[in-house]
Amino acid sequence: MSQPIPATLIPGDGIGPEIMDATLAALDALGAPFVWDRQIAGLGGVQLAGDPLPAATLDSIRRTRLALKGPLETPTGGGYRSSNVRLREEFQLYANLRPALTIIPGGRFDKIDLVVVRENLEGLYIGHEHYVKIDNDPHAVAMATGINTRAGSRRLLQYAFEHAVATGRKKVTIVHKANIMKALTGIFLETGLDLYEREYKGKFELDTVIIDACAMKLVLNPWQFDMLVTTNLFGDILSDLVAGLVGGLGMAPGANIGKDAAIFEAVHGSAPDIAGKGIANPTALLLAAALMLDHCQLTDMATRLRRAIDDTLNVDKVRTGDLGGKAGTAEFTKALVSRITNG
Ligand code: NAD
Repeated sequence: MSQPIPATLIPGDGIGPEIMDATLAALDALGAPFVWDRQIAGLGGVQLAGDPLPAATLDSIRRTRLALKGPLETPTGGGYRSSNVRLREEFQLYANLRPALTIIPGGRFDKIDLVVVRENLEGLYIGHEHYVKIDNDPHAVAMATGINTRAGSRRLLQYAFEHAVATGRKKVTIVHKANIMKALTGIFLETGLDLYEREYKGKFELDTVIIDACAMKLVLNPWQFDMLVTTNLFGDILSDLVAGLVGGLGMAPGANIGKDAAIFEAVHGSAPDIAGKGIANPTALLLAAALMLDHCQLTDMATRLRRAIDDTLNVDKVRTGDLGGKAGTAEFTKALVSRITNG
């Protein structure tokens, strides 16, 4: 029997509670030893506690250092700041790991197996923005500042390189725009090349590519890549692009890894258009739970979960509407739990 592992559970907004119920049913069927502390955030936090990131939620993650999180709603334009970004900052979740693996064969891109590692705390994404007033227009000019540090780049690149070695990746590609943003993304590129020369040479092949060329190459021939490592904004875009290669956001898990905690989530949002209809695809959150099991060194359970997902989708052909099937979330969950229990 595995030791009990305390972990924070945030079901999230929109379809969050539906896909979280499915994921908890699968983890229960596996006998995963998580002892959940259920908390709220996002719109749920605002409605129930007047705060998109209540102190009790932060305290819980501070205690457990481990969380499984459903999607959290963020208003566009005004309103409150993204709870996801605040969680990354609060727990220094500097690495975002986004694996993209083909599970359903025969799509436009087959046999994809690549990982995007995105810097999660720096770059143009940090939201240091302001307007400049000219004449009577207070919003005549919009400005943003990006910040990349050598230390921040180095810890992310080190994490990516270590992950590449640990998981047997053959090639790592640093994605940048150092031809134009010579300082902002040049520092990331230089730090990566230097770190590779000093500590990782011979352990895997290192390549570099400019972001725009990378986007084209991913569409023409994604199989040429194995692991992509990049700065925050480029990583944000590329990781959705690679999710598209394997069937869309419904199949894409993400792990946010930091010094003080690790938070696992589906990459998609709260899907307000289908919330409460019982048709959401829980696969991305299930795959995030598999990453969480990996993180806790419960590798056998992670493998059983991934195999059960694969069998449910490909052998039993039970699929939700976004994958062209007819199953609702509950029917999919029932089939998955039966696969986990009966093999
Ligand atoms: P979304 O990912 O919620 O939805 C995009 C489209 O994909 C919708 O048509 C939706 O129905 C569909 N979809 C998404 N997940 C699905 C699933 N599991 N099964 C079936 N279909 C699915 O993106 P959005 O509409 O741009 O964002 C909605 C809200 O989610 C926003 O408030 C946004 O800020 C938030 N969001 C949160 C996170 C997060 O918490 N990590 C990530 C992205 C967006």
